[in-house]
Amino acid sequence: MATLAEVLEARTAHAAPELVEPISKGRVRCYACGHECPIPEGAYGVCRVRYVRDGVLHVPWGYVGGVQCDPIEKKPFFHAHPGALAFSFGMLGCDLHCSYCQNWVTSQALRDPQAVAPPIDADPGVLVREAVRLGARVVVSTYNEPLITSEWAVEIFKHARRDGLMTAYVSNGNGTPRVLEYIRPWIDLYKVDLKSFDDKHYRQLGGRIEPILHTIRALHEMGVWVEIVTLLIPGFNDDPDELQRLTAFLASVSVNIPWHVTAFHKDYRMSDPENTTPEMLMHAADIGRRNGLRYVYAGNLPGRVGDLEHTRCHNCQALLVERYGYFIQGYKITSEGTCPDCGAAIPGRWGASFDGQIASTPFLPGSRRLRTL
Ligand code: SF4
Repeated sequence: MATLAEVLEARTAHAAPELVEPISKGRVRCYACGHECPIPEGAYGVCRVRYVRDGVLHVPWGYVGGVQCDPIEKKPFFHAHPGALAFSFGMLGCDLHCSYCQNWVTSQALRDPQAVAPPIDADPGVLVREAVRLGARVVVSTYNEPLITSEWAVEIFKHARRDGLMTAYVSNGNGTPRVLEYIRPWIDLYKVDLKSFDDKHYRQLGGRIEPILHTIRALHEMGVWVEIVTLLIPGFNDDPDELQRLTAFLASVSVNIPWHVTAFHKDYRMSDPENTTPEMLMHAADIGRRNGLRYVYAGNLPGRVGDLEHTRCHNCQALLVERYGYFIQGYKITSEGTCPDCGAAIPGRWGASFDGQIASTPFLPGSRRLRTL
């Protein structure tokens, strides 16, 4: 029986020229993520999905690891078309190996024999037509790390833009200047999972903090709409001093960047820390607010975090978007994207009106249609 790696080798294309460079005889450098792997002939990069054969960098193509329809609040984006349906696809593999990953079946499929996630052959046009049929407003590359499969995401995003949809990455942010320039023409929204503000912690997860901070700043300067999530893990990244430095950094990029601090629950290989409590989230949120961040949210514990699920005007505190979990209970932003009470411009990507909500919980596209993707 073929191994998963062999199955995936049959589903590849050549890397985009922007994301690869020959460095010596038989070796090329990949620029799809911050590892910038120098890859010799016949070898894989750290992500184990991009490899060199006959001097050519081969990259994932032509399949999905999964497709799901999510409320956009689940990604989470709170300042981009609240209530919209986000047609979400992933591939397989990741450039980090976080022991608490909540998508480990797809992200660690190449590293962990227990993470069995077979690929499903897919066509970009069919995927996007299905997104349109279901009423999605955004197509999102998520579940595995999208940067390492950027060629395939861009191909799907070209179809999405043609059909009037927005596009997004849900990513660890371990980018390079080259990959950000490569996706720039095709991306509207970008969520970065800022896991810590300590390089030692990032090295434990298999990365470095510097490329992630560069990605956040660069995306903001490019005009891509950015929201940040920090999964608060007791004993790992909840030190007040670390949260102080993390939120001060975000505020130095822009006080308008929404920061979501979300609750950890025991998962995958990290089962030692206790689950995050509402009080821990609220304390972290307080640090973010004191550092000047205007939009701070607490996630994963609906109804237990006071006001921190809602969007309030940063200027007059009027309640603008009322939420319970992913469910939109109230919406008052004007067609100009302003506060109806004081007229302040509310940062984000807003529609002319609230278009209702197709689903406040995730669902799978029909199984028959999924097989035809
Ligand atoms: S995507 Fe990242 S980990 Fe994978 S080969 Fe390229 S630089 Fe290495």
